[in-house]
Amino acid sequence: MTATAAASHPPGSWRERARSLARGIVAPHVGEEERSGQTPPTVLDALRAGGFFGLGVPARWGGSGGTAADVAAVLEELARESAATATLLSVHLSVAAAPILARGTDAQKEAHLRPLAEGRALGAFALTEPGVGSDAAHLTCRYRRDGEGFRLTGSKMFITNGARADLVVAFATRDPALGHRGISAFLVPKGTAGFTTSPPLAKLGLRGSETCELVFSDLGLSPGALLGSEGEGLAIALGALTGGRVGIAACALGVAQAAFDTLAEAARTPPEDWKQVAVARAFTEVSAARALVAEAARLKDAGAEFVAAASAAKLFASETAVRTAYRAADLVGWAGLRTGSRAERLLRDARVFPIVEGTTEIQQLILGRALLGR
Ligand SMILES: Cc1cc2nc3c(=O)[nH]c(=O)nc-3n(C[C@H](O)[C@H](O)[C@H](O)COP(=O)(O)OP(=O)(O)OC[C@H]3O[C@@H](n4cnc5c(N)ncnc54)[C@H](O)[C@@H]3O)c2cc1C
Repeated sequence: MTATAAASHPPGSWRERARSLARGIVAPHVGEEERSGQTPPTVLDALRAGGFFGLGVPARWGGSGGTAADVAAVLEELARESAATATLLSVHLSVAAAPILARGTDAQKEAHLRPLAEGRALGAFALTEPGVGSDAAHLTCRYRRDGEGFRLTGSKMFITNGARADLVVAFATRDPALGHRGISAFLVPKGTAGFTTSPPLAKLGLRGSETCELVFSDLGLSPGALLGSEGEGLAIALGALTGGRVGIAACALGVAQAAFDTLAEAARTPPEDWKQVAVARAFTEVSAARALVAEAARLKDAGAEFVAAASAAKLFASETAVRTAYRAADLVGWAGLRTGSRAERLLRDARVFPIVEGTTEIQQLILGRALLGR
């Protein structure tokens, strides 16, 4: 992203603004988004003009302010119309901008956070590798010191916003034998020599969200590219992912709500009696998911421990999205399976959420450990 626009924030809550943008601008472009495989420029411009790229970042660094609850509300409203657009923003805010805000020096914030928050740059987060997903402590992308700077060699897989991103928060190890103690976080600007991206990967859901492989071939970085201290990379990644889970849970909630809307509409056509059961069940589950997302955001805003709440929200909201989209497709019938129908897209999109930013099984592990105090 390169275009700039003054952040003219219209009146109303962040949720109201997001709903208005989602219905007025995102929804009409969903077909184009799915076909092109990326968020349309019109949608990016509207997000930028509304200050959405700076949510959660203080005005001092070019941001729009707002709480974790505001971020969750915005992502839910966007995902109700486009899970792909919501995911682009969730990654940008939660796992690209947030770790720089939390751990960056003032110079890094000026150079990298400000352009992200002002919507002049798009962010990505690169932890996963071709052979390393859940077990991130064993990543293999290597770095070595080169004078005062660093050189990175390796590959990152399934990276959201990867091809378009202007800045990637990337993780590499000094020596895989050191385990988590060897991992450091780096700020990698697009265009750095030795940085290439694969063509977007074709996938079942979130077709409008770009996912690709990033390749670092002896990529040279200045000393200022190190985020935090050497060896702190995994802690930075896991901290970002904990916050990111509230965002991804909110995206899943938006998909679940859209599926509920589709299901409820289908349930109004006769015969209605048995369909009421599906509506009642879906309503209860979506409401419970919303309560879990709200609680995780509330704890985060209060500065309280929210690891368990974030995992519970992500676990339940993503499974609710899948179940509700599945039931919606049942009730809509043949039209729900037709390629290009809303029910079909929701079914495909929902399936991605139990995987991204920590699978369901990993959320269960985190949650179990947190609840048992391990
Ligand atoms: C659309 C999409 C976008 C993505 N965007 C990004 C991104 O922007 N940045 C990024 O870094 N990554 C991204 N990812 C990667 C994502 O985070 C990983 O896919 C996820 O962490 C799982 O890793 P994996 O696919 O290697 O599966 P694996 O870790 O190999 O897991 C395979 C299966 O085994 C299970 N499993 C693994 N370990 C355990 C265990 N200890 N106990 C029980 N079960 C276990 C898993 O739950 C899963 O069901 C994205 C993925 C997708 C699909």
